[in-house]
Amino acid sequence: LNEFEIIDQFFLRKSYSKPGWVKVGIGDDGAVLAAHEDNDLVVATDTLVSGIHFWEESSPVNIGYKSLAVSLSDLAAMGADPDWVLLNLVIREADSQWLENFASGFFELADRFDVQLVGGDTTCGPLSITVTAGGWVPKEGAITRAGAKSGDLVFVSGTLGDAALGLEVEPERMANLPSLSRIHRPEPRIRLGQELRTIASAAIDVSDGLASDLTHLARASGGMGAVVDERLIPFSDNACSLKPRDELLLLALSGGDDYELCFTANPSREKAIVRLSGQVGIPITRIGMISETPGFWLIGSGGKCKQYLGGGYQHQWAPDV
Ligand code: ADP
Ligand code: MG
Repeated sequence: LNEFEIIDQFFLRKSYSKPGWVKVGIGDDGAVLAAHEDNDLVVATDTLVSGIHFWEESSPVNIGYKSLAVSLSDLAAMGADPDWVLLNLVIREADSQWLENFASGFFELADRFDVQLVGGDTTCGPLSITVTAGGWVPKEGAITRAGAKSGDLVFVSGTLGDAALGLEVEPERMANLPSLSRIHRPEPRIRLGQELRTIASAAIDVSDGLASDLTHLARASGGMGAVVDERLIPFSDNACSLKPRDELLLLALSGGDDYELCFTANPSREKAIVRLSGQVGIPITRIGMISETPGFWLIGSGGKCKQYLGGGYQHQWAPDV
């Protein structure tokens, strides 16, 4: 298969009628999309590299799903309604079965959120996938990391630590523990993000562990910090059945790949947040507060507050020689 056959066979979906706002889709030098006058465009891009973000032998269905999910999660954190994506695919060989499975995972998620693949690039090399996603918010309506105020409450969606724990658990056992398969199939919190536009003061998606991501949010909000009560951090039943709380805590704080939303809001919005949780069917837990003291602070099981210096998941760059 050459590049054009790959695109034609796996990514250009003929049976699919493209919406009117895609004026020119796959096949030209660029895509032409109608713009919305009253909205702001939010764009995010993410690269997944084989051997770092997934194993080369991972199920291609999951690789396809996850490569889209991580970009959609960024749009969710901004409160955007995703519309289109570009897919840059670097593959070692044109393996039809692999491509077909990859595309099925990718389009399964794309179709669920009504996201259009409008272009991309396909080249030969070590397996890596970049997805660039675009979505809309009402003008000035994007949720950023920078809006938190001292005294705002900190909330998190879903449960934390499942993805990092999933990495430790053998695949057969993981298959029976749905929350742990999130390492392969994170759920982008798209609807929640959109509903938070009028409620949250700041938001971030938790991709590198709560400690690191919440610290980013607090720092971006005028150099502030966050105090989190470790007793309030939500864990899944599956996780609790496998590990004691103190070990789960480390996974939640410094593990990666949960793709839940962490957001802040004025305390007066707490009731609205409880209601929203019921509306979208996702647990939302208050875990702490924004404070003027920079850094990430943890209230422990004994009620004492200590600075947490564990940091988050970081890539190891090769040392200089
Ligand atoms: P160019 O040479 O102008 O960069 P290409 O030959 O790389 O264009 O791509 C041909 C068309 O196919 C373009 O419209 C491009 O956006 C699209 N395309 C290439 N790879 C992919 C892919 N993996 N998924 C979706 N569309 C793709
Ligand atoms: Mg061109």
